[in-house]
Amino acid sequence: MNGAHPGKCWHEECGVFAAVGVPQAAAITALGLHALQHRGQEATGVVASDGASFHVTKGIGLVADVYRDAHLENVPGQLAIGHNRYSTAGGLTLENTQPLRVVYRGGSLALAHNGNLTNAREVRAGLEESGSIFQTTLDTEVFLHLMALSGSQQVEEALAEAARQVKGAYSLVVLTEHAVVALRDPHGFRPLCLGRLGDGYVVASETCALDLVGAEFLREVEPGEMVTLDPHGLRTRRVLPAAEPPQHCVFEHIYFSRPDSVVFGETVDRVRRRLGQQLAREHPADADLVIAVPDSSNSIALGFSEESGLPYELGLIRNHYVGRTFIQPNQPGRDFGVRVKFNPVAEVLAGRRVVVVDDSIVRGTTSRKLVRLLRRAGATQVHFRVGSPPVTHPCFYGIDTPSRRELIGALKTVAEIREYLGVDSLGYLSLEGMLATEREPRRFCRACFTGQYPVPVDPQARKLSLEETERARTSAR
Ligand code: AMP
Repeated sequence: MNGAHPGKCWHEECGVFAAVGVPQAAAITALGLHALQHRGQEATGVVASDGASFHVTKGIGLVADVYRDAHLENVPGQLAIGHNRYSTAGGLTLENTQPLRVVYRGGSLALAHNGNLTNAREVRAGLEESGSIFQTTLDTEVFLHLMALSGSQQVEEALAEAARQVKGAYSLVVLTEHAVVALRDPHGFRPLCLGRLGDGYVVASETCALDLVGAEFLREVEPGEMVTLDPHGLRTRRVLPAAEPPQHCVFEHIYFSRPDSVVFGETVDRVRRRLGQQLAREHPADADLVIAVPDSSNSIALGFSEESGLPYELGLIRNHYVGRTFIQPNQPGRDFGVRVKFNPVAEVLAGRRVVVVDDSIVRGTTSRKLVRLLRRAGATQVHFRVGSPPVTHPCFYGIDTPSRRELIGALKTVAEIREYLGVDSLGYLSLEGMLATEREPRRFCRACFTGQYPVPVDPQARKLSLEETERARTSAR
């Protein structure tokens, strides 16, 4: 299907938004998606309902580009949902762009999903066996098929039935002609919050989207909770018992969410400051200054600076306008991919001993190039500090991490990584230190650092080796 591997369900990071009882709901949704751009830059879509029909606007690219000439302010309807998509290689087609929209016997439906279902392949195979024809390669689509097969005409009940058959991570919003239904998986892997806007409501992956549209943050959708929003107001029901403890993704706090968002009950900036402070305690450095790898590490580097007393400087400047399709001119010089994104400030770095703080090391390739960049700019020493432990296992719940074969933390020791990066010293935050920065550590999934998956995973989806498959199974027990 469009070059995508048949049967493969793509892993995605995403952002979702919904508006209900709000004039110009489509335009408000696009604005909300703009604030969630960091959660997905590949494609975006908005579906609005005017009570009788759906209006779909979708495109591949950034929110600002896709909706520039779409005149969403003229789209009728006070209900809308939207989605920003980040996908890994392949599978990037308009069909795979959410929200997914269908017409079934219960009426029209559109659905937008953040997260990853761990049993999607299995469920999909069963559905295909009994005749279902899939339109996309997204795991999200199984929700629609399961709903269509439900005995209930009622959307909430059909969605609840579907939810009982899937496993893994889902924070999703469903649009009908007259309502929006929001649902979060029982483990609460991904964030999802509710806000009040005028006489209506909004739902968003992160509170930074509520801020931009001028909504008031009410609360998070609870794990296992379904919230229906329509002109009559807000109704809630528990469709699945909440897992105890929940499994909020710790990587949302470390890297993925925006620092100005309140996620899992805390402002992300606060958690990141504590990560940096803890990092400085665990791995102090004899150096002149601290810099961040902007922007995701800014708050962590500030925390490091506060605790160590070393001045925080802006030693790397990030260009925010680097599109994915940037054309590399045939020019001399290596590390172009990193240089096009980051430029060192020589005045700040020359002749100085530099602590560079990053939130995480995944493949190690960016970090290695950055170190070379800092040295060329005149840094006499480079001390690399990482605000999380080595990433040793892929995520199956919605963060795009490569397979173990590409994770440097799974392949090399810290001493070998130090060598590979070419740094004077390297310090990763310990697992205990990282968890200690959370108010309630037990409520967080940390599988990417431990390999202990709280919900059994489908290792084939990642093409893991047999040995890895077995390890994943064992730790899931
Ligand atoms: P590398 O170690 O070269 O793979 O890149 C590490 C950098 O990627 C760090 O600066 C992180 O901020 C960033 N990063 C971490 N996780 C992800 C992710 N899932 N998607 C994109 N970038 C990421």
